[in-house]
Amino acid sequence: MATTADFYELLGVSRSATDEQIRSAYRKLARQYHPDVNSAADASEQFKRITEAYEVLTDPQRRQRYDMFGSTTGGLGDFGIGDLFETFFGGDLRRREPRGPMRGADLRMEIEIELLDAVQGRERVITVPRLETCDRCSGSGAEPGSSISTCPTCNGRGEVRQVQQSVFGRFVNVSTCPRCGGSGKTVDKVCTRCRGEGRERKDRELTLTIPPGIDDGQQLRVPGEGEAGMRGGPTGDLYVLIRLREHALFKREGDDLVHVLRVSPAQAALGDEVTVPVIDGAAATVRVPPGAQNGQMVRVRGKGVPHLGSSGRGDELVYLDVVVPRSLSKDQRRLYGQLRDIEEPPSQDADAQDLFGRIKDAMGGS
Ligand SMILES: [Zn+2]
Ligand SMILES: [Zn+2]
Repeated sequence: MATTADFYELLGVSRSATDEQIRSAYRKLARQYHPDVNSAADASEQFKRITEAYEVLTDPQRRQRYDMFGSTTGGLGDFGIGDLFETFFGGDLRRREPRGPMRGADLRMEIEIELLDAVQGRERVITVPRLETCDRCSGSGAEPGSSISTCPTCNGRGEVRQVQQSVFGRFVNVSTCPRCGGSGKTVDKVCTRCRGEGRERKDRELTLTIPPGIDDGQQLRVPGEGEAGMRGGPTGDLYVLIRLREHALFKREGDDLVHVLRVSPAQAALGDEVTVPVIDGAAATVRVPPGAQNGQMVRVRGKGVPHLGSSGRGDELVYLDVVVPRSLSKDQRRLYGQLRDIEEPPSQDADAQDLFGRIKDAMGGS
């Protein structure tokens, strides 16, 4: 069994299995593989795997995450070395039984979604180009009505062995039979639709459920929607990588949404009530406090992104950008003039030195 075997397959239960069914399947396997009763070399490894599968599938939250992402941590990078090998070598490295069923490949695709979709969640129809079992031959690769016989190249074993002599010694090279592709059978007339492959390329439309709170770089796992298996093997899974499109007004920071609000020096000095846009609803009113500073943040609670898989939402963080007018009307010039004459200039203390430090840091200097 591969190290990346599906938790459900490991325990031999269906995806809809109840806790009780999972528990009883685990008990049975644990009795079989527990290191105290089974001294085989890989028994304790197998025991660890079924225990992990059991722990995840009996924890409702972890099970939900597993169903959604194919792992309990979510996000990227949950493919084991086994998957890598299968990707590079197009199949299982361990010797296969001839004519044995082969699981279809997992498919990976990427979709781009709007920030609003990530906030509200939605269903989206995607088109998946994939290999499906051929309708005409039902996967046998033989034209309907034609006869099937044992492959003469491999005598039905599905693999060919070649003894090779090299400077390192003599070794046997075992490879899949090129004539029958490992099935051990040849047909006198190959299927006209799939040319004997048993599978054909089709564009399949699927409805993908995007859960609220999903973030850029996370992936959704859709079990059984990968490529068709061979010789009756199970279908692979589909993994959809989520890419979040940039939004003109909001920048996502975790589950918070950052918005920049431009205010005038007078609004900052005197304070004001200002409306700000909200990603999925009516605009909200925020209070700019009197004496607000450039870069100061005002929080709008609960107007961020919903937490994935749980209740509650992040906040909208409104950062104030105090904008000094570049040109003044006659009235403004007069009033700013009076203001300059009566106000005390800002003190030239440590804050100013701080600014130099910040500028130096920003320039990467020492
Ligand atoms: Zn066919
Ligand atoms: Zn063959």
